[in-house]
Amino acid sequence: MKQIVGRFAPSPSGRMHLGNVLCALLSWLSVRSQNGSYILRIEDLDPERCPRAYADLIEDDLDWLGLDWDAGASKGGLDGSYYQSERTAVYQTYFDQLERAGLLYPCFCSRAALHAASAPHLSDGRVIYAGTCRDLTPEQIAQKRRQRGAAVRIRVPDETISFVDGLQGVCTESLSAECGDFILRRSDGVFAYQLAVVVDDGREGVTEVVRGRDLLGSTARQIWLYRLLGFEPPSFIHIPLLNDADGRRLSKRDADLDLGILRKRFTPAELTGALAYAAGLIPAPISVRAEELIPLFSWDKLPSGDLCLPDGFF
Ligand code: GLU
Repeated sequence: MKQIVGRFAPSPSGRMHLGNVLCALLSWLSVRSQNGSYILRIEDLDPERCPRAYADLIEDDLDWLGLDWDAGASKGGLDGSYYQSERTAVYQTYFDQLERAGLLYPCFCSRAALHAASAPHLSDGRVIYAGTCRDLTPEQIAQKRRQRGAAVRIRVPDETISFVDGLQGVCTESLSAECGDFILRRSDGVFAYQLAVVVDDGREGVTEVVRGRDLLGSTARQIWLYRLLGFEPPSFIHIPLLNDADGRRLSKRDADLDLGILRKRFTPAELTGALAYAAGLIPAPISVRAEELIPLFSWDKLPSGDLCLPDGFF
């Protein structure tokens, strides 16, 4: 049987908050309950927003929670650095491959121009690119380059991608109608998340991606990119949102409760117990260590709707 490889891929733009802890816990339990290996990848593509000090705190917070990893972050591993900020040369190779295939084009549209264009807005706030720069002539490109830097987009085909998400069920997206040509490199030269995540998961042999439901809308285009770059797509499990005990969305303040604060209020076992209860893994919010949950873990136990924290958690 194929070895399961899972990962936690946080962007260290701040301290981990509850949603990140839930994602780390569930992705770790899934891997450990299948005797797989677990990677910690630091998604600090934008080094200005993601200082190394926050990445170091993530390692410290995972240690505190009792979640270990086999490769990644300061531990390193077979694929060189697991900090995305140190992998620019790797992304460049794959970017060049797509460029040679004639799939990329420069896009000079400003943020304001993108929003003003009459492209439909999707429910998650994404804007479908109207294709303004899709068919510029070499002369137009040269002239625009003199005025401003360009982002680089990839041309998506008229193709529909379907996949079965482990929790969300069958998902289908038309690349041209519901996604549109998307950015692979920003105008400041930073490679986009969509490219980096596929290259890294592909090269690191990740077989199972567990992450928040907010990224469900990125999955179809990522599956298309995996195939284009010659990687086998992993399976996907998008975890539901975390609500308070009454089923209400966490307020901005609650949702922002980060581990700096939570570590003062709870022991690791209390926090793990509250999240395990919300995820349906234990019948009451008792104190439990992550390791003790391994034999109890099954994705089938997760409720189909949003997850609710225990009464009195806040
Ligand atoms: N770095 C992303 C985040 O922290 C997660 C990316 C992923 O899991 O694919 O939201």
